Amino acid sequence: MKFSQIFIPTTKETPNDATLPSHRYLIRGGFINSQGAGLYNFMPLGKIVLEKIRAVVKDELDKAGCNEVQLGFITPMELWEKSGRSFKMGLEMLRFKDRKNNDFVLSPTNEEAMVELVKNRVTSYKDLPVNLYQINIKFRDEARPRFGLMRGREFLMKDGYSFHESTEDMQREFALMEETYKKIFTRLGLEFRVVKADSGAIGGTGSKEFMVLADSGEDTIVVCKSCEYGANIEAAVRQPRVVGEEKMEMVHQKVLTQDLTSIEEVSRFLKISPSQTIKAVIKKAVYEESAKVVVFFIRGDDELEETKAANAVKALDLLDADDEDIANAGLIAGYVGPFGLPANITTVIDNEIADESNMVCGANEQNYHLSGVDISSLTDMQNADLAAVQEGDKCSCCGGELYHTKGIEAGHIFQLGTVYSEPLGANFLDNNGKSQPFVMGTYGIGVSRLVAAVIEQNHDEKGCIWTKETAPFMIDVIVSNAKKDEELEAGEKIYQELMSAGIETILDDRKNARFGFKMGDFELIGFPYAVVVGKKLQDGKVEIVDRKTLEKTEVAVGDAALKLQELIQG
Ligand code: ATP
Ligand code: MG
Repeated sequence: MKFSQIFIPTTKETPNDATLPSHRYLIRGGFINSQGAGLYNFMPLGKIVLEKIRAVVKDELDKAGCNEVQLGFITPMELWEKSGRSFKMGLEMLRFKDRKNNDFVLSPTNEEAMVELVKNRVTSYKDLPVNLYQINIKFRDEARPRFGLMRGREFLMKDGYSFHESTEDMQREFALMEETYKKIFTRLGLEFRVVKADSGAIGGTGSKEFMVLADSGEDTIVVCKSCEYGANIEAAVRQPRVVGEEKMEMVHQKVLTQDLTSIEEVSRFLKISPSQTIKAVIKKAVYEESAKVVVFFIRGDDELEETKAANAVKALDLLDADDEDIANAGLIAGYVGPFGLPANITTVIDNEIADESNMVCGANEQNYHLSGVDISSLTDMQNADLAAVQEGDKCSCCGGELYHTKGIEAGHIFQLGTVYSEPLGANFLDNNGKSQPFVMGTYGIGVSRLVAAVIEQNHDEKGCIWTKETAPFMIDVIVSNAKKDEELEAGEKIYQELMSAGIETILDDRKNARFGFKMGDFELIGFPYAVVVGKKLQDGKVEIVDRKTLEKTEVAVGDAALKLQELIQG
């Protein structure tokens, strides 16, 4: 391909909202352009990268025995009502009517449609298992589309669904998909970690996420220094903390804590460690047709993990309770404790403090706390794991030290069981002739998100640095001054040699662009290598530039193609 023939509108302008390198460089490099919040067009270079990633995904899935299909982007609302997800998906699911007033949605995911496709077509255990996937557009009306391709509203996803006669067989396939995903991310040249995850709105149990490690990742991952343990903070667990030694003996009494509402103020005043106090976190839990105030109690120096908390009260979402919510619930902000709460308030106590004694908590009375309280004396309290695992906590598997790192969720695999097949009545006949719902697994990859993830992990202050499998072209042959026939001819020759060797190469033959501009484009776009054909040609030399290190090596013009082949294969 020649620069003079390909549409690559690079620009110096950075969009105002582009805070992440991938967002900035993909726009500036002429890969994508935005046509509204979370809506992106792929221009020629972007499309090449997208297709490369798609091809790796498809190749590995096909090798693992999965079948590619393509479902309609638009699905009838009826399907979502049958599965019970029409409400659960909330405002992320974009709904509309056709001219006959029928209800439809732009598919945010396709469990329901895939179950319908298999239902009544696979009828016997003899036809199982089946694993079907598609690489197709999804639409989610995200509350905060941001970071370019990372969190778009319209995006390309690979979504796969497997159908089995038993849980054991589904788990075998789940393990196969985990291995297949590892191959995909390794081939793409990404540094990643597989972690335990929360299952979210998709439902089911036992899910794992594939996290591309990058400082800009939206997800916090908890990782053990000593063993293989890794989990999204939403699902991470730790060895229960023991705080016995730092505890002070306290009398059970009501203490005046005038205007002292925070854990820090109260513990400083009472000269105790914050770990001896109980923190009340007041939230508004949102349900299908209602909302209510809920109080979560955790140790004073812990933080509430909101996903765990929402799961504990089976809420669709947790919002911060405002002053009015708190007052209406009869609670006294800053002084809320588990003893003597107004009736009908839902409370949950973190597992780790459920048996604690000699603690300090709010007295549910303005300006008072209680000291020396015994939590285990409370009856009828719901307990759950509510605390966010902190850095330095101990691993529940090996006792090793846990730390936090940031990741981009690029893939997610779920053991679904029968949560869709049952409500949708998708059954098969088992080997005893008995009708059973399919046992399912589901497997997603954010294909367009991966375009951004590669750059989040591989960039510098000048621009993108593509990995070998994702680079739109491996080599950029830069003709320094294309108006000079001898330079253009030498460049074309190297270009032809590389093309004959099967290496994807682009020739920068633009006559109207200066060398500095061409070099700037090379650095911004991020092809792995460039060959500069310039002044040194007089001495029979050209220069090879490595995009990652920006190191330059002089080689004889006749050796350039061979040298580059060695570099690429090495
Ligand atoms: P997230 O927590 O990031 O919102 P999710 O849990 O909603 O992701 P899934 O429903 O599991 O995501 O979708 C499968 C994959 O699709 C994700 O692992 C992610 O890579 C990708 N994906 C999800 N939402 C988006 C989006 N808004 N833009 C781009 N890719 C997305
Ligand atoms: Mg989401």
